[in-house]
Amino acid sequence: MTLTAASQELFDRARAVSPGGVNSPVRAFRAVGGTPLFMRSGSGAWLTDVDGNRYVDLVGSWGPMLLGHAHPEVLAAVAEAVARGTSFGTPSEPEVLLAEEIVARTSAEQVRLVSSGTEATMSAIRLARGFTGRDKIVKFAGCYHGHVDALLAEAGSGVVTLGIPGTPGVPAHVTADTIVVPFNDRAAVEAAFAAYGDQIACLITEAAAGNMGVVPPEPGFNGFLADICKRDGALFISDEVMTGFRVTRSGYWGLDGQQEGWSPDLVTFGKVMGGGFPAAAFGGRRDVMEQLAPVGPVYQAGTLSGNPIATTAGLTTLRLADTDAYARLDAASLQLRGLVADALDSAGVTYSLQNAGNMFSVFWGAEQPVVDFAGAQAQESWRYRPFFHAMLDAGVYLPPSAFESWFVSAAHDEEALTRIAAALPGAARAAAAAQAPPAPA
Ligand SMILES: *Cc1c(COP(=O)(O)O)cnc(C)c1O
Repeated sequence: MTLTAASQELFDRARAVSPGGVNSPVRAFRAVGGTPLFMRSGSGAWLTDVDGNRYVDLVGSWGPMLLGHAHPEVLAAVAEAVARGTSFGTPSEPEVLLAEEIVARTSAEQVRLVSSGTEATMSAIRLARGFTGRDKIVKFAGCYHGHVDALLAEAGSGVVTLGIPGTPGVPAHVTADTIVVPFNDRAAVEAAFAAYGDQIACLITEAAAGNMGVVPPEPGFNGFLADICKRDGALFISDEVMTGFRVTRSGYWGLDGQQEGWSPDLVTFGKVMGGGFPAAAFGGRRDVMEQLAPVGPVYQAGTLSGNPIATTAGLTTLRLADTDAYARLDAASLQLRGLVADALDSAGVTYSLQNAGNMFSVFWGAEQPVVDFAGAQAQESWRYRPFFHAMLDAGVYLPPSAFESWFVSAAHDEEALTRIAAALPGAARAAAAAQAPPAPA
């Protein structure tokens, strides 16, 4: 067993001074039980906790750590930038370089930098409403776009992990203009546009869903969404906060839109583009982006937006994320998926292992591929708890929820994969032996 005395002590202190002892709910071990581990350091594919235990990390800070932890070139660039000062509140060169890099890689003609994915989607929606003069928005059940009030209707990620349908604190009138439809359901999207077409400002979707577990769009689905938005004068917002710069050098669009000839009107990025610092962006069509202040009337601002340290970390990460890095990521992901499938097959577990490029997750007990939120929620998520703890005890750090994507990095080498391969068979047997909780009375 791993020692967790130091984590436990910090957690007790944390709970005294902050709600649940965490600064983001998904970090708590509510769904899997036990004490969240406090990490002290990371290097490449590995994390070390405050008790000195080492783990292969399959969370990657929930997506950002594309190159692994403490990449020497990112650290060096950040150290140089820090020495020049940490924030000026004026334009600075790194923001221009990062924006140029994003525009060169993606469908966006212009971008505005912000500090979190939540800010990016919130601002994209405001801009879409300002541009179209319409109020309604369409989102998919199980898609998570950050903790934006209007988007917390049937959201994924921590909202589903904790089993809360919406959240208190969001007044009914704030979500009254939010239309929620099932993911991958063309008929439901058609029906929403048939009913409200001329009132819909935008449709927002995860480019590939990764916050209810990984549920890729069916072939042609994103193109269908782009077309129906265009037909009815709504903007199509592709949320690539998770997939952007992770599944290809642009994002999911590079596996999908670029091949099939469609682009979003607006797109949001975060996670990888900050290289482990708070940086995110929304961007898209120039005519839409130029409705933003100071050019246009739609207001949006941020004291630390385009922060020189965050943009330097992001820029250095993206520059290092070349074809070779993506090839390593994809190969590690493929190899890992094979190991997981072998272990689950040998243990006699029923599952659906689903991926969107190099992101993937397991749906426990699923006999068919999961295509939407109802399918994701129907999984035997209770099998994950013993699986998670067996992996943790064997030195592999997984997301503490069955509804999250697993992330590899370009630093996941043979040593890391060997550790995971050794851990999997026992964990798969623990999942197979898991008992369903008693049905609620
Ligand atoms: C993580 C995430 C967000 C929110 O980003 P934060 O930086 O946590 O605010 C939004 N959309 C998607 C698809 C995400 O995965």
